[in-house]
Amino acid sequence: MAMAQHPADSHDTIRVRGARENNLKNVDLDLPKRRLTVFTGVSGSGKSSLAFETIAAESKRLVNETYSAFIQGFMPSNARPDVDLLDGLTTAIVVDQERMSTNPRSTVGTATDANALLRILFSRIAEPHIGGPQAYSFNTPSVSAQGGITVQKGNNPKRQLATYNVTGGMCPTCEGRGTVSDLDVDQIIDRNLSLEEGAITVPGYKAGGWAVRQFSESGFVDPAKKIKDYTKQELHDLLYREPSKVKFQGINTTYEGLVPKIKTSFLQKDRASMQPHIRAFVDRAVAFTACPDCGGTRLAEHARTSTIEGKSIADVCAMPIVELRDWVKALKVTGIGPLQDNLTGILDSFVDIGLGYLALDRPAGSLSGGEAQRTKMIKHLGSALTDVTYVFDEPTVGLHPHDIDRMNNLLLALRDKGNTVLVVEHKPETIAIADHIVDIGPLAGSHGGEIIYEGDLKGLQSSDTVTGKHLADKVALKETVRKPSGAIKVRGADTHNLQNIDVDIPLGILTVITGVAGSGKSTLLRKSLPETEGLVYVDQSEIRGSRRSNPATYTGLLDHIRKAFAKENGVKPGLFSPNSEGACQVCKGLAVVYTELSFFESVSSPCEACGGDRFQDHVLDYEYHGKNIADVFRMSVGEAAQFFAEAGPKPASTILDRLVNVGLGYVALGQPLSTLSGGERQRNKLAVQMAEKGGIYVLDEPTAGLHLADIEQLLELLDRMVDSGISVIVIEHHQAVMAHADWIIDLGPGAGTEGGHIVFEGTPSELVTSATTLTGKHLAEYVQ
Ligand code: ADP
Ligand code: ADP
Ligand code: ZN
Ligand code: ZN
Repeated sequence: MAMAQHPADSHDTIRVRGARENNLKNVDLDLPKRRLTVFTGVSGSGKSSLAFETIAAESKRLVNETYSAFIQGFMPSNARPDVDLLDGLTTAIVVDQERMSTNPRSTVGTATDANALLRILFSRIAEPHIGGPQAYSFNTPSVSAQGGITVQKGNNPKRQLATYNVTGGMCPTCEGRGTVSDLDVDQIIDRNLSLEEGAITVPGYKAGGWAVRQFSESGFVDPAKKIKDYTKQELHDLLYREPSKVKFQGINTTYEGLVPKIKTSFLQKDRASMQPHIRAFVDRAVAFTACPDCGGTRLAEHARTSTIEGKSIADVCAMPIVELRDWVKALKVTGIGPLQDNLTGILDSFVDIGLGYLALDRPAGSLSGGEAQRTKMIKHLGSALTDVTYVFDEPTVGLHPHDIDRMNNLLLALRDKGNTVLVVEHKPETIAIADHIVDIGPLAGSHGGEIIYEGDLKGLQSSDTVTGKHLADKVALKETVRKPSGAIKVRGADTHNLQNIDVDIPLGILTVITGVAGSGKSTLLRKSLPETEGLVYVDQSEIRGSRRSNPATYTGLLDHIRKAFAKENGVKPGLFSPNSEGACQVCKGLAVVYTELSFFESVSSPCEACGGDRFQDHVLDYEYHGKNIADVFRMSVGEAAQFFAEAGPKPASTILDRLVNVGLGYVALGQPLSTLSGGERQRNKLAVQMAEKGGIYVLDEPTAGLHLADIEQLLELLDRMVDSGISVIVIEHHQAVMAHADWIIDLGPGAGTEGGHIVFEGTPSELVTSATTLTGKHLAEYVQ
């Protein structure tokens, strides 16, 4: 690569020459530094390939190169993106929608600097005074240890005994988790049955199976007796008996009650790595209760009882951030001015970004994707670093039109601190504030990958690009709505912020749930519906094993393709599965090799052994209608749909048509699911679900990741689903979807404690006519 030869340029410009990642067609581009650039274009056109996989990836790689040769020895040398030249890069920080750590120790406060600053505040002015900032940290245990230290006196080193004391704020009982866990016995046994009839309802404990026989043949209980008829002693032996030596099938073993046994075999494992049915069991059976010692505050006694104006650090972390900010502002203590300003600044950012309803003690892992992205953003807004390149992935996801202005202001604030801000975004409101717009297209996949417009908003509006043409889109309100066939009746819902609400959610039609972020939409649909309803949540969450899966395996398409290849060539279908004996032995049929790095995210690089073909040469000799199996994996869904429509078999083309219908025609059949965005994952799940007939589907912001031009296609799809007998309930912020609804349920009026009411129920045109809610006003502006 040429050395940077344009020092004057590189001060003001990021230059990209010959970018070819994924579908990019040798792209050249100059981006202004310390400006806000928005990347637009239909989904699959190449926006992420350019912003994330080229610019941000190369910046990260260059930063990694500054590590010592030892650490670099663990990193593959060919992780460099496919691009001829990049210069003028600065350190890149990617602020994406990945959920935040599910580590229970991570909260909104610890994930930002808010808790650190609060701890300093308390250590400065709280009474009684108890120690340094760490005395208020629930992640720092108190330690007292003795050890030897070496003291140098003149030329005579001398060993001395010393005591170290650190006063941390961690509650010793729950170790700072705030909860203690126990098993809900009614979830592990059915008292109306005997052991022989299947009384143990734990996964892997089938009646008559080995695990159950250890109990029924233990001699402690009668296997034919219903549990409800057990004596106290029998019940104790079944559930809690301490380890005792017994003979089981002639062998000396140790008998242990069911409860301690389950605790060791299930509860000590990492929840994330469990199989789904095990995780579902654990979620059902484990009851978490607030720690009896600290009452759930996670804090040791000294930290709980030291207060400022009567409030402990636990009290203030439980307040909605809006209230906490006002409390901090109002403190009148001399000498804490700068600290107070700094803390108020961070808390103001939360409020500005529409997260004032959260409390700092909220577990980070419980935030939605959009909330997580905005929380990560706050850390950077408060950061003293400048001249950083920030790369955002649809920061308006999860935001009501009402909240978008505030998000825009934060993006501008980051820029005004002297940073380069790159944003992949579809919303006209955000495109409108860009200093510079880069439109990629014209279409998706191999029909995209080119820069079709660069410049300001005016130019884009008058260009004939797909983005330009759709920018000023208005839609017509649906006048004739469908009639519901029934309803889900919710009565007295009061989880989280819901205010004891009653609502009927109609079935057989397209229902849209609206409301600002934090108003209670997810709480209503996820936590408040009667369990009998059999809903299918088609959400954006990760798909397990997603590196090994791709659209072909995930949808079952590969089974049909393998059989077709096998039949045509008179060989076994197994030959055409990645992982079979026919697969490339180096990459195991994955086409790429993953290098796991303990210090960094793992990195993938193309497999050199098969060149990305996934299979051994002899397998590639077999063809089906002129294509080998590697060719098929390289096809986009759209290409494959055409190919299999002609070549058959029918089930293959049916599955492919579903993928095309959900707007995934540009995705390659062999593309790992781990590389899909949240919106694409959701549409993939939808394509699989659509194989079932009927049912109630709940979709969470299905327009995420969709270009304005793709939304029409999504609406057609939703209509087809409803017409085929599926009840569709969607959480949406996009006005085009609201206008298309048969029924709208609007939650609000605000977020958190200011939300949780049903503020409107009715048709879109009724919503616009009354137009008293925030949603109504925004919808009114959007319709013709
Ligand atoms: P956008 O961000 O505009 O939605 P992307 O940059 O994610 O588009 O994708 C552009 C094209 O590159 C698409 O056809 C997509 O399927 C393909 N692509 C993206 N990532 C990969 C990958 N890891 N492997 C193979 N193809 C990929
Ligand atoms: P929406 O889906 O409309 O954005 P949510 O249902 O996610 O709103 O949130 C409604 C309220 O419930 C908010 O005040 C939010 O902070 C609170 N909330 C949501 N999930 C949790 C949780 N796991 N723990 C505590 N509070 C929660
Ligand atoms: Zn505790
Ligand atoms: Zn290989």
